[in-house]
Amino acid sequence: MFKAILLEKGEQGPIPQLVELNDSDLPEGDVLVEVDYSTLNYKDALAITGKAPVVRKYPIVPGIDIAGTVLESQHANWKAGDAVILNGWGVGESYWGGMAQKASLKGDWLIRRPDALSSKQAMAIGTAGYTAMLCVMALEDNGITPESGEILVTGANGGVGSVSIALLAKRGYTVIASTGRPEEAEYLKSLGAKDTVNRSEFSEPGKPLAKERWAAAIDCVGSHTLANVCASIKYGGVVAACGLAQGMDLPATVAPFILRGVTLRGVDSVYVPLERRQLAWDRLATDLEPEVLESVAKVVGLSEVIPMAEDMMAGKIRGRMIVDVNN
Ligand code: NDP
Repeated sequence: MFKAILLEKGEQGPIPQLVELNDSDLPEGDVLVEVDYSTLNYKDALAITGKAPVVRKYPIVPGIDIAGTVLESQHANWKAGDAVILNGWGVGESYWGGMAQKASLKGDWLIRRPDALSSKQAMAIGTAGYTAMLCVMALEDNGITPESGEILVTGANGGVGSVSIALLAKRGYTVIASTGRPEEAEYLKSLGAKDTVNRSEFSEPGKPLAKERWAAAIDCVGSHTLANVCASIKYGGVVAACGLAQGMDLPATVAPFILRGVTLRGVDSVYVPLERRQLAWDRLATDLEPEVLESVAKVVGLSEVIPMAEDMMAGKIRGRMIVDVNN
């Protein structure tokens, strides 16, 4: 028997419960993993609370992130004892995910955990941190360097925002954090932000073009915020757009793109090819200080996940939530 969070389909949405399952309950897979830690991401909170139709197939174990050890493998790349990480691929949405002590997975989804990271540190990073790294890589792919100028990060107190600030600061960028929680300014500065701006500057409908302020931006928020961020990027700058915390809409004009040559670069973490994933994780292992991981992450047990998901939807969570499935 092993413990798991299971979402059953109810009349009004998912019914989440902490349950005990047998190995025979697990879905088919070619690698059986003993899970050490998972994480609670915004997407997991949507799945658990049913606030958005994230789950494609019930019943399901949520958890889009997994760090653990291979117990059994029929896949050529993996053997018992290997330390592995999984992010995305529809796990926790269409396939059973990480909020359980065991997971039955496809070997093609797994990547090697870098030696420099423990399972717990890998999950302090999780999908949010790995998405932050993909955003930084997207800016670099488009020629942004520390000399380019100030980089704006929106949704700064969130998992993606916090890690983006730390990664950019470590590489020598000047980071400005946009937040709706000015009381967290010192925390954001401790991660490496030079200054903060209030997110209300970006959250209302704005002009097609605004004063040129930022060399580049990482946007976790979407909607009017993303439109206003694009409108205030300097000539030839780049916006890496990964999130929708304000909304999925994009009420923008083409002005920043056709008059200032701004690039809007979409960032997806779910179906990124394995090679780029491994590259992102190998860089995360060297570009983040362990103290940063300690400061952005909090550990919760499986039994705390369900109420925590409600708190996350209410915007009360700061940084990353690691889920200790053995507690
Ligand atoms: P969090 O919930 O941890 O953080 C989101 C942050 O956005 C909050 O902390 C808050 O920051 C800000 N925010 C919340 N509501 C609003 C609002 N109404 N208007 C403006 N800002 C708001 O989420 P994550 O950091 O984990 O993820 C950020 C976004 O990226 C989410 O939309 C998520 O779905 C998406 N995502 C996308 C991925 C991809 O593959 N593209 C992968 C991972 C995440 P503050 O309090 O500082 O203002």
